[in-house]
Amino acid sequence: PLVLGIETSCDETGIGIVRGRTLLADAVASSVEEHARFGGVVPEVASRAHLEAMVPTIERACETAGVALHEVDAISVTHGPGLAGALLVGVAAAKALALGLGKPLYGVNHLASHVAVDQLEHGALPEPCVAMLVSGGHSSLLRVADVTGHDDGIVSMGSTIDDAAGEAFDKVARLLGLPFPGGPHVDRVAREGDSVAIDFPRGLTARKDLERHRFDFSFSGLKTAVARWVETRERSGEPVPVADVAASFQEAVCDVLVRKALDAAASEGIDDLLIGGGVAANSRLRALAESRAETLGIRVRVPRPGLCTDNGAMVAALGAEMVARGRTPSSLDLPADSSLPVTDVLAG
Ligand code: ATP
Ligand code: MG
Ligand code: FE
Repeated sequence: PLVLGIETSCDETGIGIVRGRTLLADAVASSVEEHARFGGVVPEVASRAHLEAMVPTIERACETAGVALHEVDAISVTHGPGLAGALLVGVAAAKALALGLGKPLYGVNHLASHVAVDQLEHGALPEPCVAMLVSGGHSSLLRVADVTGHDDGIVSMGSTIDDAAGEAFDKVARLLGLPFPGGPHVDRVAREGDSVAIDFPRGLTARKDLERHRFDFSFSGLKTAVARWVETRERSGEPVPVADVAASFQEAVCDVLVRKALDAAASEGIDDLLIGGGVAANSRLRALAESRAETLGIRVRVPRPGLCTDNGAMVAALGAEMVARGRTPSSLDLPADSSLPVTDVLAG
């Protein structure tokens, strides 16, 4: 099926067009630069930027894909989770298209889309697999038996009890004077640093924590430890070794993520691990996951960095899977749901 997907959950207006598992276009307009001076995404600014970018981004995607709107078989749209006002813009546009074109509408989950997108690069998703979703707002370990969510197809094994992994990257970057969003900057700066220079804490890995939180994450203690370390340095008048702090922090995050993800796969007897979400773009996370998984005989799939951060292709990919598996389209009065749980994959 030819599917057009719309993503507006945060600050990226993404329009993707796929034919089955083949990516035809992935047009993204980001308002990230408008938010940078505030050090975080400003919801009202994001909503307005989506409104302005929507039509030109749809046109750009159609042009790249070489398709006309009336040829599309279905529309899919992120209807949650995310910023309420931002989601509404995408949902309204999707309804208008579906109604105007007389095509079915699929309201899908943003987080499940971060998993489904890998099919565009590496082919049919191995099901069941364990998926680790690490992004600006979420850090979860999921057991995915059916990415469309059919029959409890997505089950949560664990998630962060405080900050998300991407949030930790962004906060530490700020502390180090790096621009927003900080993840890619920490990644870049860490390449020049020593990852064992500072021994930062690995949250929820002590034996007593593993009893209750084996597959959960905690990054707020790590963030505080980095802040304390930097403060102590500054007070002593010595320069802060930014590259070493970045590398040591990044190592602490990636070590815990990879350890828990592989443990989750092993505990389920599953040989396929998928990593998705913006933090999956991190070069150290990718390398560490691959090397440790190999020794355990676990296969790792990570989409290329451009497909890890928010985009429309991921929404189109999940929409195409809904069509291919004969799922019932969503109602034309589907709501935006800012706190949609990851297990709710398709709107009724
Ligand atoms: P969610 O999917 O939870 O709604 P989101 O939509 O804000 O979150 P994504 O685009 O999925 O965001 O991820 C953005 C996050 O990924 C930001 O926190 C950003 O710093 C982080 N990130 C992007 N690239 C890298 C990288 N190379 N290393 C580490 N973090 C990264
Ligand atoms: Mg973003
Ligand atoms: Fe996202």
